[in-house]
Amino acid sequence: MNNKYTTIIGLEVHIEPNTNSKMFCSCPQDHFGKQANTQTCPICLGLPGALPFANSQAIEKTIKLGLALGSKISKKSIFYRKHYFYSDLPKSFQTSQKDNPFCVGGELLSKKIDHIHLEEDAGKLIHQVVDGKKVSLIDFNRSGCALIELVTKPVFNEIDEVLSFLRELQLIARYLNISNADMEKGTMRLEANISLSKDGQLPNYKVELKNINSFRFLEKALKAEIKRQSEALDKGLKLEQETRGYDETTQTTFSQRTKSGSDDYRYFPEADLPPIETSDEDIKRIQGSIPELPNEKRIRFKTQYNISKDFIEILVSDPSRASYFEEAAKFDNNYKLIANLMVNKKMDSEFREPAGLIKKIKEIETTEFATPNDVETAVSSVILENPDIVTSYKNGKGQVIGFLIGQAQKKLQGKANPKELNDILLKFLNK
Ligand SMILES: [Zn+2]
Repeated sequence: MNNKYTTIIGLEVHIEPNTNSKMFCSCPQDHFGKQANTQTCPICLGLPGALPFANSQAIEKTIKLGLALGSKISKKSIFYRKHYFYSDLPKSFQTSQKDNPFCVGGELLSKKIDHIHLEEDAGKLIHQVVDGKKVSLIDFNRSGCALIELVTKPVFNEIDEVLSFLRELQLIARYLNISNADMEKGTMRLEANISLSKDGQLPNYKVELKNINSFRFLEKALKAEIKRQSEALDKGLKLEQETRGYDETTQTTFSQRTKSGSDDYRYFPEADLPPIETSDEDIKRIQGSIPELPNEKRIRFKTQYNISKDFIEILVSDPSRASYFEEAAKFDNNYKLIANLMVNKKMDSEFREPAGLIKKIKEIETTEFATPNDVETAVSSVILENPDIVTSYKNGKGQVIGFLIGQAQKKLQGKANPKELNDILLKFLNK
């Protein structure tokens, strides 16, 4: 890729929270794999006279995410009607937010967040052939489901930064238990806005990449789009505001919709929903329910257990494995061995309880390591064979200890438990 241009990327991330019911009615929120159109009611179908009511669980989860990311929480939040022709939303408007979203600002991995708002999802179009005819069917199970939308500032310059941000956000959503944020199940969905700049300033167009269904797909789509835009700029062409999709077979992006100006959504406040007020007590209570977040855990694991960065990353990426590790670490201080057996040998899936893993570790230690007796014999003969080295240790040359450990390990064919060998050697030297 050339570096004549600065890449500028902003993200819109949709997260379906794991609430019991939809955003404005009591139909189930979980629609994955359910028979089409079995989870609807007059409210989510937008039938005349139906009155929506806001789901407080979804609001709390949105605020929880905002607090975890350092957003400012709006004391008064308003829902708006966003008008547009949505073929998959029967009301012909979407209940969303505009001014006063629940969370304003915030930051993740030093990348600024614009805001986080709450809205309702649309239904799903299914394109099929029925009786030899191409038809579009519609499933309204997802229509009206709660959807948290996080919008970043246009602050990304590298694809890697985008991917790290999204992976961390996904992990935080899981730690907070607001969503599984699973791209395959559609509980996390992405859109990226991308433009190239000649002078580092934000240009007057952006291309919106839509329908991104995996991180790998996003990476490829961004690469293809950067290539397309820089080639166009090289030729002196003017780029325009549009929505594009990515075709994996040709590895190129294709135009889906050109936007001449900004869409006129004719937003106006949803009169059927009162403004939502959030008190200081609410904020304090939600703040109190936020667990230790991944990055805090990484830092603590490093200082508390001193295990390698790779092990920490793998353990922290799964909250249940992280707590399994900590349970096991209460029984045995050979943290590296515990982490190694979990990460490289997957022994945590073999033993459902950490106690089982520890029992196994004790077995390994006694069968695979030399006995304390053998270690003592080896250490005492090394000390007898190296009187000069022992003297220099006693004169303050602490670094010679490495040599003595090496000699003792050699005698034991490397089978000494390092910590035990170290302890026994020190005991002999300090006699
Ligand atoms: Zn409903």
